[in-house]
Amino acid sequence: MKTATEARALLRALEGQHPNADTALRYSNAFELLVATMLSAQTTDAGVNEATPSLFARYPDARAMARADVPELEHLVRKTGFFRQKARALVGMAQSLVADHGGQVPAAMEALVALPGVGRKTANVVLGHALGVPGLPVDRHVLRVTNRIGLAHSQDPEVVERQLGELLPPAKWTVASDTLILHGRRICKPKPLCDRCAIRASCDDVRAAGAGAPAMPAAARRSRAMRPRSPRT
Ligand code: SF4
Repeated sequence: MKTATEARALLRALEGQHPNADTALRYSNAFELLVATMLSAQTTDAGVNEATPSLFARYPDARAMARADVPELEHLVRKTGFFRQKARALVGMAQSLVADHGGQVPAAMEALVALPGVGRKTANVVLGHALGVPGLPVDRHVLRVTNRIGLAHSQDPEVVERQLGELLPPAKWTVASDTLILHGRRICKPKPLCDRCAIRASCDDVRAAGAGAPAMPAAARRSRAMRPRSPRT
């Protein structure tokens, strides 16, 4: 596991490779970001950004969404997939905001994860980006990249959140998550592009492949080993 000093240096290098990392979801307040993040499950941020302008115009706040006509709401979020479950979760979340928080999004992890359909990752996204509270969202990219680099050692997002959080100052948590997500999307993909990686020399996965060995880190070897032997379409 990397030290805190090493972790900060690695994140600085990654911030250099992916400057100004931020969520790609479009929003203008905490309620909109909460809705957009809930919709982003199992779909792309671009797909969510296509759906949200008309959704936010129709339901601009928790009070409006709490009274939503569910079939109409389902229609507005249909293209984000799992639209029935998502519409139900949005209405339930909005009703809880109205009943328990005066229609406002609470700025506390415990209160956020008590809302229907809101998990720890979504809560961290909203806390860190829209509420000024340190939040460290751990998605599949953060999970994969931190384990490869040696910033965490677990496949449990909550454990990785704790391990990475201990290495970085709270003020850096959100930008670290955004940077690691971009690194996972662009470079440290399931089959990683290590020859383009700014931190290749310090990556545990590359080191595990052996000093002086041909350039194939452990992650790439695992990816290759998992490929089917005969091509399938
Ligand atoms: S060197 Fe390769 S495995 Fe390590 S972080 Fe970079 S892209 Fe990922």
